Amino acid sequence: MRELKIFFATHNLDKKREIEYILTSKKIKVLYIEDFPHYPEVEETGKTLEENSLIKVLNGYSFTKIDTFAEDTGLFVESLNGEPGVFTSRYAGKDASYRDNYMLLLKRMESFIKDSERRAYFKTVITFKSENFTKQFEGICKGIISKEPKGEKGFGYDPVFIPEGFKETFAQLDESLKNRISHRAKVVEKFIDFLEKEYIGA
Ligand code: IMP
Repeated sequence: MRELKIFFATHNLDKKREIEYILTSKKIKVLYIEDFPHYPEVEETGKTLEENSLIKVLNGYSFTKIDTFAEDTGLFVESLNGEPGVFTSRYAGKDASYRDNYMLLLKRMESFIKDSERRAYFKTVITFKSENFTKQFEGICKGIISKEPKGEKGFGYDPVFIPEGFKETFAQLDESLKNRISHRAKVVEKFIDFLEKEYIGA
């Protein structure tokens, strides 16, 4: 059986923390950007999460020469025709903070009062690239956007996202719970399943 050593191409320390948490129990050694001095930045110029996830993985694979995965995540609000979508990380501008972004979202949703008008979902696309495979996986978590920010945990839009079946935002819920039900948890589950069935044994 081949040793499972893969590289996660992300600059985002919050994503890294969650992926580390989700993968702890698995026998997979993950390398990160800090293991590669002079790791090159890449611009996310894609029009979809799939394209951006692919851009990041190709950058990582060509630099490290190690089997690599990358992910791209977006928040899609139904009544805003899918905004912020591919612009999730820079909704309020290039250098916007997490708070700037979710406060702008709340402002744009001020006139949407009913829960049914506040429906949204997170989607994460993981792309995995090795010599023989380029494969994509997706995970979705449905919910609604709260009317005000609540909670201190998590990151990004967590203070304004209430996952389906709960009354609290992701930022109020235990991190262990978020890491079981989130878009990222779901896509990682599919990714691991693929690694175990088709990659390790291949
Ligand atoms: P990107 O995938 O690096 O383009 O960034 C996606 C952006 O989505 C991040 O900057 C966060 O604002 C947001 N985001 C990604 N994952 C989550 C999450 O699990 N909870 C809340 N916000 C998230």
